[in-house]
Amino acid sequence: MQSSGASSTRNCVSCGRAMAWDANVCPYCGHDYRATMAGAPQQKKESAMPLIGGILIILSSLGYFAGGGILAAGSAFFMDVGGGWGVLCGVVLIVLGIISLMGGIFAVQRKNFALALIGGIFVVPSILGLIGLILVAVSKDEFKS
Ligand SMILES: [Zn+2]
Repeated sequence: MQSSGASSTRNCVSCGRAMAWDANVCPYCGHDYRATMAGAPQQKKESAMPLIGGILIILSSLGYFAGGGILAAGSAFFMDVGGGWGVLCGVVLIVLGIISLMGGIFAVQRKNFALALIGGIFVVPSILGLIGLILVAVSKDEFKS
């Protein structure tokens, strides 16, 4: 029956088994292709807001790396006079920078809204970061999750 091959079948994106090309629902796993197609046009209302917000958050996170790096390095120099806390604070700032950087990258990719938002929250002390956070927050619908 299916000897003519690939032109009349396709592989289900969900379970990978061959199914009729024009089937609306996969007979094996029940994956509904009508829902997928109906949802697709909504993807077009993408704005540049997550991208710009993500870039602002990434730029702001660099401040954490710079500040944390300088603080940690400077404090390490004065380690014998109680610089240990400064090193710790510097490391904390760098960790915050890493979280913010990841959040910014997620925002650019429009995925993992929660982590993008957290990254944005950490850079709020920077005005660029605040703007980035707002841009990410208002474009929640454009995120994949
Ligand atoms: Zn399937």
